[in-house]
Amino acid sequence: MLVSAKEMLIKARDGKYAVGQFNINNLEWTKAILLTAQENNSPVILGVSEGAGKYMCGYTTVVGMVKGMIDELKITVPVALHLDHGTYEGAKACINAGFSSIMFDGSHYPIEENIAKTTELVNTCNILGLSLEAEVGSIGGEEDGVIGMGECADPDECKAVADLGVTMLAAGIGNIHGKYPENWAGLSFETLAAIKEKVGDMPLVLHGGTGIPEDMIKKAISLGVAKINVNTECQLAFQAATRKYIEEGKDLQGKGSTPENCLLLDSRLSRLQ
Ligand code: 13P
Repeated sequence: MLVSAKEMLIKARDGKYAVGQFNINNLEWTKAILLTAQENNSPVILGVSEGAGKYMCGYTTVVGMVKGMIDELKITVPVALHLDHGTYEGAKACINAGFSSIMFDGSHYPIEENIAKTTELVNTCNILGLSLEAEVGSIGGEEDGVIGMGECADPDECKAVADLGVTMLAAGIGNIHGKYPENWAGLSFETLAAIKEKVGDMPLVLHGGTGIPEDMIKKAISLGVAKINVNTECQLAFQAATRKYIEEGKDLQGKGSTPENCLLLDSRLSRLQ
């Protein structure tokens, strides 16, 4: 069964830890994440971006796949299926498809419009018992090879959005999606502390979890972060495993001469020449 993220986040906030949101992009990642959460007896949030939703044949396919896996793999830990950085239309589509948690990212709208659209979604999610994440201050990241530094959210705007009754709030504190550049200034704990001061107990969300040093993660949790989003790190782990077999000279010849193996071997040999 899918659950709203509300209860797990309240427990995390009170227990001073953070729940991981891992983005799913295909069946294999989803299975690996669910099995790992179960192995560790940990609640988990499965994030789905609109792009990944489209790639996986639409939101109803994603809901069917995740519910099927929870059942077949006998997953008993709490699992929330969450739209990541949803548009207003995407949020409505995921609500209809059966997601248990929604992020509406209105951070690129003027604050009044962000508030108006978030308010409408708060009402719908409350009626249906879904959790809702809102965003203030956009999270940076790479676009066309250029890495945009993350914004720092305005604490008063954070309060205005938190007061709408959202379940959790993503506030930009200099965090960015993807790998952090060498000249990254780090998270702005000054901003985070000012936001916490304004929003009180509201569970906060830290996007761009990949590559944030552990001491910063711990400090962020101590200042109210109760959910940490990770996507790039899973992709890097997959690449690292592939690299291990190609670069470290694992024997592909002995594994049978499938066209794929020959291709991998060829590319390795041509690099060595
Ligand atoms: P990373 O890709 O940097 O791990 O960030 C993921 C994220 O914040 C998804 O919303």
